[in-house]
Amino acid sequence: MREERLPDFEDETPHIARIYDYFLGGKDNFACDRKVAEQILQLAPETPDMARANRAFLGRAVRFVARQGIRQFIDIGTGLPTRNNVHEVVQTVWPDSHVVVYVDNDPTVLAHARALLADTPQTVVVDADLRRPEALLDDPDLRRLIDFDQPIAVILVGVLHFLPEEDQPFDAVRTLRDALPRGSYLVISHASTDNRMSELSQAQELYRSFTNRTGNGLRSREQIRVFFDGLTLIDPGLVVAQDWRPLPSTERDTGTPRWILSGVARKD
Ligand code: SAM
Repeated sequence: MREERLPDFEDETPHIARIYDYFLGGKDNFACDRKVAEQILQLAPETPDMARANRAFLGRAVRFVARQGIRQFIDIGTGLPTRNNVHEVVQTVWPDSHVVVYVDNDPTVLAHARALLADTPQTVVVDADLRRPEALLDDPDLRRLIDFDQPIAVILVGVLHFLPEEDQPFDAVRTLRDALPRGSYLVISHASTDNRMSELSQAQELYRSFTNRTGNGLRSREQIRVFFDGLTLIDPGLVVAQDWRPLPSTERDTGTPRWILSGVARKD
């Protein structure tokens, strides 16, 4: 029997964040989540590698952006707290003078995040939906922490591929981009259809039919590139997560399919 930390939230509906937690080797998932996860693993056994690579990209990208002088971060689709949460990474660069707003629309994520992440005056957890970016940007807690006259990093890591076209993800990201002052950064990772098209489409169908989300937002490299319109992509551009400014310890090409594309761009 696995330890389950918030049993009051257990229900029969698998959650994206808890399935991802399972792929990352976490404990905050239930039998219903693991059942879907195991079906996804049948289709694409490399998925845990992709989850770890995605998470490692997030850490490297946040550290990079912080080193460019950014002290304000909005992490949208934050997921369940795990290792190297955004504020922990930023702290290594700006120990005191930083703020992080964590945003998600899943009550399970919000409860965990509030318990584990929002214990400092510099961090807040906001219940908002990427599909309603104006309301997200107007959230009073977000406004209390974020100064829109100073550069900001918006992080959309591992979330946009859950928004199908009818959710208008390109409009949502444009609204976020437009709200940012010059010198701000956009950090994105996104599952791509460049390879593994059939398997990933079937996996998205599992998410669509079983989880708390409805979307299949898989996109090609060209489509993902559009999220950065009007911004300057930082070297090395839009690449698989493992290849974005890897550290000596970063796992490189192991021959398994790699399908998380990642990029960081600046608003000049
Ligand atoms: N960003 C983390 C990472 O990459 O390690 C977690 C990614 S997790 C796979 C996706 C998260 O996005 C989940 O916590 C889910 O609840 C959240 N999410 C999905 N759709 C969302 C939406 N429309 N608005 C806000 N959050 C959303």
